[in-house]
Amino acid sequence: MAHDHSDEAVSEGEADVPLTVLTWAGLGIATLDATVQPLPLGLVAGALVVAYLAGGVPPLRSALSDLWQRRTLNIDLLMVVAALAAASVGAALEGAVLLALFSVSGTLEHRAMGKARRAVEALMQLRPETALKFEDGAVREVQVAELVPGDLVILRPGARVPVDGRIVEGTGHLDESTITGESEPRLKALGASVHEATVNLDGILTVEVTRGLAESTVAQMIRLVTEAQAMKAPSERFSDWFGQRYTIAVLAGAVLAFAVLVGLGWTLDEALYRAATLLVAASPCAVVISVPAAILSALSASARGGVLFKGGAALERLADVKTFAFDKTGTLTTGQAEVTGILALQGDEDGFLALVAGLEAQSEHPIAGALRRAAEARGVIPIAVRDVTSNPSEGISGVDSLGPIWAGNARMRERMGATLPPDLQAMADGSETLIFAGRGDRLLGAVTVADDLRPTAREGLAALKAGGVARILMMTGDRAPVAARIGAALGLKDSEIESGLLPADKVTLVDAAAKRGAVAFVGDGVNDAAALARADVGVAMGVAGSEVALQAADVALMADDLGRLAAAHALARRTRAIIRQNLTFAIGAMLVLVTGGLFFNLPLPLAVIGHEGGTLLVVLNGLRLLADPIRRPA
Ligand code: ADP
Ligand code: MG
Repeated sequence: MAHDHSDEAVSEGEADVPLTVLTWAGLGIATLDATVQPLPLGLVAGALVVAYLAGGVPPLRSALSDLWQRRTLNIDLLMVVAALAAASVGAALEGAVLLALFSVSGTLEHRAMGKARRAVEALMQLRPETALKFEDGAVREVQVAELVPGDLVILRPGARVPVDGRIVEGTGHLDESTITGESEPRLKALGASVHEATVNLDGILTVEVTRGLAESTVAQMIRLVTEAQAMKAPSERFSDWFGQRYTIAVLAGAVLAFAVLVGLGWTLDEALYRAATLLVAASPCAVVISVPAAILSALSASARGGVLFKGGAALERLADVKTFAFDKTGTLTTGQAEVTGILALQGDEDGFLALVAGLEAQSEHPIAGALRRAAEARGVIPIAVRDVTSNPSEGISGVDSLGPIWAGNARMRERMGATLPPDLQAMADGSETLIFAGRGDRLLGAVTVADDLRPTAREGLAALKAGGVARILMMTGDRAPVAARIGAALGLKDSEIESGLLPADKVTLVDAAAKRGAVAFVGDGVNDAAALARADVGVAMGVAGSEVALQAADVALMADDLGRLAAAHALARRTRAIIRQNLTFAIGAMLVLVTGGLFFNLPLPLAVIGHEGGTLLVVLNGLRLLADPIRRPA
């Protein structure tokens, strides 16, 4: 079967149905005629004509349009030619069977492939049309498309969230399974972000719109998945290429067989019948559909589980990954860091915190968030800082009313020429993340920050190892003692930990690891976008929201769950296995049929059934991947 699945919309799958019925009707009458009693000749001829038109015109049209527009020969053409050849030698009934089965299996296949593609469509249906906008003290129902960032909307319990936004009032549980695949509801409070198409279970929430409809997380997911389905995986491109070459070869082979048979003294009719049988037996329908059937199913299953692949190529590469490299902060740890100690060398702690929080006001680094929250918790107002520049994996600098100031790690401190006073030595020897702050070469104080492991991190890494990953690496810009402590908690060996890295060092390490096979880099997009982009497979974590990561990565985990990564890796490997099974089976079946056609007088109808049956089996085998292997039991 050779309908070009990748270019057609889902709904077209149903278009073949009436034609199929017609074909069968024609065929039924013809069969009656052949088996029970002679029917009037006109009726039989009429029925066969109907069967040929109904079953033959659609593939002929597709064949001609491919020939015309893309200058390619497709398999539909082989089928039509075979049926016509059969008819011309008095085997019209066999030709009709061929066309009927071809259109039946075409319809079934379309449906199956539609199903494999539908994950995102379901998501689109979950997007509410209207929202309750809060304006001038009153609530009004408006079209979601009209909402702009800054608008306030009210979410009632049980309703789907109409926009991406931030909670400005209220708390409640949200079911985010549509986006993250996570079935456990999440408690969200003031400041938390909410996403379109998730469900507000119990709270009455006021939400400030942060993104318009076109930029929402769901819109991005839809875009990603649709693009992914349109992009062809390398093995898919191969089967297209192969299908094209092969179709021509089959046509030529059939003509050759015909010539040889005639040369051997067969009658023209017999030779033509045999050539038509070979044409069907050798058609590569099953080979061509083997790969897309598996890839589309896998892309769909993973999208439902909150894992988005940017195309089948990423899926295929993930199956080959030998080394998984992880960023630490925000990836293996929650990124919800907390300040655990403050030491001000001059003035009081609050004044020091006001300065540091002022510097970090705009930074998206998890450490910056910790400092801002600490200031807020103590009621400290951050001072105004201008000309802020961030030094990735080192720290941040800016200018306040008294002049240039900075905050960052030991490397930053040394670069500024600030020495470590004795009272800070103990803090600097510990295994907590340490941030210094200073004015030029004068150190003003230091803060320690602690960040918890993600609850799923240890299991997730173990699952990856169990799934056959050769090497795990943790790469961090943080200090060695912190890296060692976190690594130990994760069950990593010293050789699996790299610390004190700049963003460029991560890229170098990814390159080095790539010498031993494909590398995946898993990060959150903060200070590691370069490594994400450089790795064979870049995996972005907890993406429901962060654009940087979504841009740089090949795979996006919508939830913060590292267990999904292992599941996605397993799915990629299963997909690869199923593709191999499919190709082996399809090529094997073809060889058997061709051998039968060449040496064992295989009748045309048997060739047809073998051919179409094999194609359907391959599609169904691919569809097994749809059985949602990514979502873990709640
Ligand atoms: P990781 O590789 O673990 O994700 P990063 O490379 O993002 O860590 O950061 C490495 C180190 O650089 C941090 O541990 C911190 O000491 C320092 N740093 C980075 N950004 C900032 C910032 N905005 N403020 C203070 N320190 C920072
Ligand atoms: Mg990081």
